[in-house]
Amino acid sequence: MTALASIIRDEIQANGPMSIARYMMLCLSHPEHGYYTTGYPIGAKGDFVTAPEISQLFGEMIGIWLVNSWIELGGPPEFILAELGPGRGTLMADILRATANHSGFSKARRVYLVETSPSLRDQQATILEAHDVSFVDTVNDLPNAPIFMIANEFFDALPIQQYVKTDIGWQERCVDNNGSAFKITLTAPKQNSDLDKIFPNLPTGIIVERSTISENISESIGARIQKYGGVALFIDYGDWSGVGDTFQSVKGHSSSTTLENQGQSDLTAHVQFQRLAIASLCETQFTTQGMFLEQMGITERAQTLAKPLSNTKTDTLIASHRRLVHQQEMGELFKVLALRATKQPELIGFEK
Ligand code: SAH
Repeated sequence: MTALASIIRDEIQANGPMSIARYMMLCLSHPEHGYYTTGYPIGAKGDFVTAPEISQLFGEMIGIWLVNSWIELGGPPEFILAELGPGRGTLMADILRATANHSGFSKARRVYLVETSPSLRDQQATILEAHDVSFVDTVNDLPNAPIFMIANEFFDALPIQQYVKTDIGWQERCVDNNGSAFKITLTAPKQNSDLDKIFPNLPTGIIVERSTISENISESIGARIQKYGGVALFIDYGDWSGVGDTFQSVKGHSSSTTLENQGQSDLTAHVQFQRLAIASLCETQFTTQGMFLEQMGITERAQTLAKPLSNTKTDTLIASHRRLVHQQEMGELFKVLALRATKQPELIGFEK
């Protein structure tokens, strides 16, 4: 049993079965043994590869979207360019490179990274060492100014709660331990009018998920956008809404079980974008990653990049482009949600 597994077992023995949200929080963010606290999880050698790690094309398209949104909003002379959960810092590095020639945008931005993991902060500081960047722990620690915010594969890493619908209320799925092994148990059924409203007319026995932490973060971002101006772009796997168990674990690029390897494998769940949209109290636009990237010009950009390349390098570029946009790869599973303030014009990238 790992050190973290013993800590979780002891807490369960002292307090009873633990919500999946608490379990996920400890596994991912325990201050000593959490997966993100200790690990170097992202990239070919890590447990998963994210869009910015696949190709510079991704960050370039986000950069174009940010500059365009900044112009649409009248080019505020000072704004916060913020990223939530920047991983290795590759996306922000690509955004800063792709937008460097736009002097108005570049002069007006102050870069902030919202990151809790000390080891990932170190990696981000290294890759971004040519730039002036500040770190904060939460969205609430950002300065009060217009924000242009991006979050890629951030919300899927935030804790979720799971419930099962019964005839007489909702049972929460919890993690229990019998001294050596972990297993899922159910609480007694309880009334929950929020869940009744979010998930109406379901048959009994269905599992549903909710991430109140994600909703709270979206609410804080939305409040800033409404008050100070700006936009946000959330990219992740998931759907507008849905039911079912999507809690999963990834280690060494393949799935492992959620109740083993505590602190040593990634735990995620699908994002329900409707919940983020409602919580933000902003105007929203929603599409798939494939549609968004196509509208931002990823194919034209890939063709330009391919011109001077050798055949092998062109093949790699074509494969990366395909991975990002193709329906059977990330193009359809990953979705994009944009937030903007009430009365602001629609943002590019979301035409039907
Ligand atoms: N955006 C990255 C990958 C993100 S992985 C990419 O595209 O490659 C999730 C990131 O969120 C990690 O950097 C992790 O340390 C960070 N993170 C997880 N929970 C967090 C929280 N509550 N607050 C801030 N950052 C968090």
